[in-house]
Amino acid sequence: MKKGGNKDNSSKISQFWLKKAILEADKITERSVSRHKTNTELPEIVCKRGCYACCLNPIIPILEIEFTAIQNFICESLDPDTLRRIMANVLGMENNPKCPFLVEKECAVYEYRPLACRHFLVTSQPCDKYEDVFKTRPHDLVPINKDECRIVAKFMFRAMGFSKQKSNMKAKRSELMEYTSPLHEFNFRNLIVKILKRVRAMED
Ligand code: SF4
Ligand code: SF4
Repeated sequence: MKKGGNKDNSSKISQFWLKKAILEADKITERSVSRHKTNTELPEIVCKRGCYACCLNPIIPILEIEFTAIQNFICESLDPDTLRRIMANVLGMENNPKCPFLVEKECAVYEYRPLACRHFLVTSQPCDKYEDVFKTRPHDLVPINKDECRIVAKFMFRAMGFSKQKSNMKAKRSELMEYTSPLHEFNFRNLIVKILKRVRAMED
């Protein structure tokens, strides 16, 4: 067997399940939005790409696998200028609570943003800067269907390497949150190294 063959294969399998989880998460968001829209008595959902107050002081629970996918996306897809801005954000994280992936008032990793960001939907009016909607107006948060979330969790557990049976069991018990940590607690050193290499390679 080719050296590293198993590792490559398991990485492809993990990617497969991660993409399935992301697609399913998007479907859930769309279904939540359309369910909400059909009820004309409810206030309008105001979240959209480019609305960014929620990214200024976020506590984002994120899975390690999501963090890895975001790093890969950053280093494989973004241009040198955006890479440099993300690097500056990361280096300034101690003094600025904003999400390091927020660049020029937009999420630079939108396609791979964490589930926590995908499922955070607010109605009535956009958040104020540094507003904590959980405290100020929890009634304006759109509830996400828990059974549908379990499907996403099942795929995420598969991406994390759990067997089908274990993934189903863990998803049923809603254990996914137990595997998350706040984004700001992750080690960004590898990302900085990768960004530097990528910028050099692109500019050589
Ligand atoms: S959560 Fe608030 S700031 Fe974020 S997109 Fe929705 S309305 Fe805008
Ligand atoms: S990942 Fe994107 S959407 Fe989520 S907080 Fe960061 S910039 Fe905002």
